[in-house]
Amino acid sequence: MEFRDLKAQYITLKKKIDDSINSILAKSNFILGSQVAELEEQLAEYVGVKYCITCANGTDALVLMLIEWGIGAGDAVFVPDFTYIATASAAAIRGATPVFVDIDKETFNMSPSSLEEKIQLTLKEGRLKPKVIVAVDLFGQPANYMHIEKIAQKYDLLLLEDGAQGFGGEICKKRACSFGHAATTSFFPAKPLGCYGDGGAVFTNDKKINVDLRSLRSHGRSPEDKYDNRVIGINSRLDTLQAAILLPKLEAFKEYELEAVNKVAKHYNHSLQDYVKTPFVEDGYLSSWAQYTIRLESKNIRDDLQQHLKINKIPSMIYYPRPLHKQSAFSNLTKQKDSFYNSEMMADTVLSLPIHPYMNEEDIEEVCDTIKLYFKNNK
Ligand SMILES: *Cc1c(COP(=O)(O)O)cnc(C)c1O
Repeated sequence: MEFRDLKAQYITLKKKIDDSINSILAKSNFILGSQVAELEEQLAEYVGVKYCITCANGTDALVLMLIEWGIGAGDAVFVPDFTYIATASAAAIRGATPVFVDIDKETFNMSPSSLEEKIQLTLKEGRLKPKVIVAVDLFGQPANYMHIEKIAQKYDLLLLEDGAQGFGGEICKKRACSFGHAATTSFFPAKPLGCYGDGGAVFTNDKKINVDLRSLRSHGRSPEDKYDNRVIGINSRLDTLQAAILLPKLEAFKEYELEAVNKVAKHYNHSLQDYVKTPFVEDGYLSSWAQYTIRLESKNIRDDLQQHLKINKIPSMIYYPRPLHKQSAFSNLTKQKDSFYNSEMMADTVLSLPIHPYMNEEDIEEVCDTIKLYFKNNK
């Protein structure tokens, strides 16, 4: 059994993907070929925003937005404490200071009340200037944008949606990657919509961001004169090959994959709810299930269950065993350890199970039966 079966997806889409790759090889239009623009148009339409600007990976997508907004030394960038490192390192790469915010213990996403506390604390301390909130759609479920958008407005902060795991999710039919002033995603192979290498994108309705980012991703080159670089940018484009791979994959994602992965989650919920704490999806929200993450009563039980799954050849992962405030790279930043109660609890008690759109009923049942057996043996 695979944790996320990319081979099953390839076998299903092989003809289309192979044809698509071969057409790029034949044309040799490897950088910014027409497929990149075609993909950007389709992605923007699907998400429901005016512009999509692809780039080399999801981390660069965040960095590009922080460059665009002039974020740097002395600026505070509020990020959830429980997420992948890139959410915070993008700010640190720019010389800004990531300020960690505790999460909601039901959704795993940034807690709006902790966010407001951290903003007020930062203002009171007066050392850093609050500038940006980066909210993450963790494990596929969009963050609480109704609430977070209000806080951004109240304190006049920019809001960036890190939708690296959220692509395909929804809040009341409004799609992930359409919240905030801009949103980013990643096409890393294991994300809800993945390519065959690294890839990423920024989404926005802002015309200036669209123009600026197309320049910034190509060394800040001027739109009018390609030999004049108007600002310092980076080299961060999506390869035409990756765009060509993503086009048929996006079609499958829209046609059936998102629905299929939600079916798997539903099956898990039904079979496991009497044994473990199954993931909570808020009313009106749709998850794209980047991860299916259960919670156990203690670290001991979690570690023990993972061992039991491993012995039975079932892969599982811990996302994330170490919250951001405990990362060595950020050891110079934090003093207030006690304010990350939920994040620390999750790091000790979460376990992510195999999930992907091509998972069959037998495999789902095998995972569930193995978990049930563990609890039967350990009553
Ligand atoms: C994967 C991920 C990123 C970074 O994306 P890459 O394409 O790997 O650079 C950023 N934020 C979150 C929440 C992620 O899961």
